[in-house]
Amino acid sequence: MHRAVDPADGEAYVYGMSFLDAAPSIFACFDQPDLKAPYDVTVHAPQGWTVFGNGATEQTGPQDFRLATTKPLATYFVTVCAGPWATLRDEHDGIPLSISARASQRDLLEAQAPQMFEVTKQSFDHYHRLFGVRYDFGDYDQLFVPEFNAGAMENPGCVVHSDSMIFRGGISRAQLLGRSNTIAHEMAHMWFGDMVTMTWWDDLWLNESFAEYMSHRCLAESTEFTEAFVDFGASRKAWGYRADRAPSTHPVAGAPAPDAHSALQNFDGISYAKGASVLRQLIAHIGDDAFVVGVRDHIERHLYANAGLADFMSAMERASGRDLTAWQQAWLGTAGTDVVAVHLERDGDRVTGATGTRHAPVERPADRPHTFDVAGYSGGDRVLQADLTAERDEQQVPELVGQRVPELLIPNAADLTWAEVRLDDATLAALPEQLAGVPDGSARAVAWCALDAGVMTGRVDPRLLAGTIARSWGRESDDGIRAGVAMRIVPRLRAFLPAAEVPDAYRGIAAAGRELFDRSADGSPDQLAGARLVAGASDDVQLLGRWLTGDGLPESLRDDTELRWAVARSLARVDALDDATLQRLSDADRTMQGELEGIRIRALRPTAEAKEQAWESLAHDADLSNYQLVAHAEGLWGSGDPELLRPYVARYFADVPPLAERVTGMALGRVATAAFPWPMVEQDTLDRSREALARTDLADDVRRSIVDQSFLLECALRARTAFPGGDTP
Ligand SMILES: [Zn+2]
Repeated sequence: MHRAVDPADGEAYVYGMSFLDAAPSIFACFDQPDLKAPYDVTVHAPQGWTVFGNGATEQTGPQDFRLATTKPLATYFVTVCAGPWATLRDEHDGIPLSISARASQRDLLEAQAPQMFEVTKQSFDHYHRLFGVRYDFGDYDQLFVPEFNAGAMENPGCVVHSDSMIFRGGISRAQLLGRSNTIAHEMAHMWFGDMVTMTWWDDLWLNESFAEYMSHRCLAESTEFTEAFVDFGASRKAWGYRADRAPSTHPVAGAPAPDAHSALQNFDGISYAKGASVLRQLIAHIGDDAFVVGVRDHIERHLYANAGLADFMSAMERASGRDLTAWQQAWLGTAGTDVVAVHLERDGDRVTGATGTRHAPVERPADRPHTFDVAGYSGGDRVLQADLTAERDEQQVPELVGQRVPELLIPNAADLTWAEVRLDDATLAALPEQLAGVPDGSARAVAWCALDAGVMTGRVDPRLLAGTIARSWGRESDDGIRAGVAMRIVPRLRAFLPAAEVPDAYRGIAAAGRELFDRSADGSPDQLAGARLVAGASDDVQLLGRWLTGDGLPESLRDDTELRWAVARSLARVDALDDATLQRLSDADRTMQGELEGIRIRALRPTAEAKEQAWESLAHDADLSNYQLVAHAEGLWGSGDPELLRPYVARYFADVPPLAERVTGMALGRVATAAFPWPMVEQDTLDRSREALARTDLADDVRRSIVDQSFLLECALRARTAFPGGDTP
């Protein structure tokens, strides 16, 4: 049970998160998902509060509530959310709907709830059509709760979301798509997870890969977000590929989970994005009709009960009439990403021969069949295309012979398979100028992922990636791709570039944002995207100082609280934000988010005193919330030269493991990840990480953070060694 107090009005909120092994800390039970029972819950709460839970709420006295008896539920779904919520209600197809947030967020909620209700209704219709089984958990309540450590949780009938998704300031299409996707994801869980629950956590993918795949399909087919799978490629798969390269990778299905808590480590890019991609491969392999028949059969057979991998695969075999044993082992039983490429032979501008290749990682041998395509582009047109089934490491692609040689050749352009796409040298060289002109969004997302992978694995010069952002980002038309690059690639890139070239590279990136900002109409989404990139990447103190006061910004962005904080962070990073200005900003934003921004900005100042204060609080202040700990860590590592930051490398390994005594579960993982000294791209950081991993007293969550973060650091070191400063790419 988490309690949070809203600094805006002093009101308190309480919510239960029984997931994953936490239910026994709230009531007497086993944390085993195959033990299901109906629940009767009564609640005694302060006067004036409202109460939500898995069953519909009936108020039985001034401070007393009874929740309707539930369907049989696994223990990890049980929740109660209580507080003086602001709540809006609606109804669809006989299902009462509500959306709630903290009372201080009422205005934002009222403005944004209509869009959320619309997606909720569209998703219900979509899933009812697709699955053939109706939602039957009663009222469908969605609450946006404070200080939540995950994105959302699929409690039957009472979904909780992180309140960071009640947006402040301008709202981009990518943000709307992301939130709509989360809404549709949790709704898909009502069937996959809640009605049919995996028998044990080693089949976590049955929950998460399905919800991940189904939510994107639902958005693409039944909402305005028809480009959902482009966003999937640009953001979610990028996350998954990084996870599959890391030493902590594991097969999609059957990752060992000796107890519920250890299964928490597998809520990663493999169980979500890779699993969803593998489902797309399954559909490419057996056809969509068979897949849908199999899914319906699976739900009907195991309704309000449990099922495992074998149950699911036999449903797919019955539906398709095919033996899927080998396919299942190849795709679900192995870890690692194959490298795929297509090589052309040419005579003038015509293709005279073509070979497709597929290679499993040497250290993780596998024999995965791929069904995918290859497309070529010249001058903004698709000039070449073929479909491939790669069942050997090398095969001819006769369909390509006679087609025009393209300027850009992109294997897996429709993004149907899970593979590291290796682009040829001519395509890589042409990307900065031509990528934005490629007419297929999926192909552009694949190319961005290929560039990212090339940099991570030390084969592609990080300056080519920086140059592609500088020249191509401002002309990119898909807001999801833009946001994915700005939020996932730009912040990490500085660790990969030669240190001396970082400031200039980021000026080039900020200039791309500036160019988009300048040429876009006032109030347009493009202008918002451009302004955000400038605010995040620029070190132009003059410009940022003007923007902080609203000078030079259009009407629509002058009162944008989030943009103002982003500008303030960039000023603090170069020590150009004084106390009086910070005080003024904080006074103007007396909210939970404003409080966190204040913490982050104080830690961002590149002074010894600021870093020391941030670390002291992080390591020793027991009163801080998990969000506040993360804000201190992000600020500390977000600025400053190596001399200033070096002392905190040793202190990480001394002070963070003991945090496990007072921070637990997902929160501990978030804090340990944010506090990791990733900007210290030095052999010493790696050596200390390896020493730490030899210890036997590390909590699982801390160990996993060190494994993953030190792997990123190793990649950055490799890139800096392979592409040292000096010559221009
Ligand atoms: Zn989920």
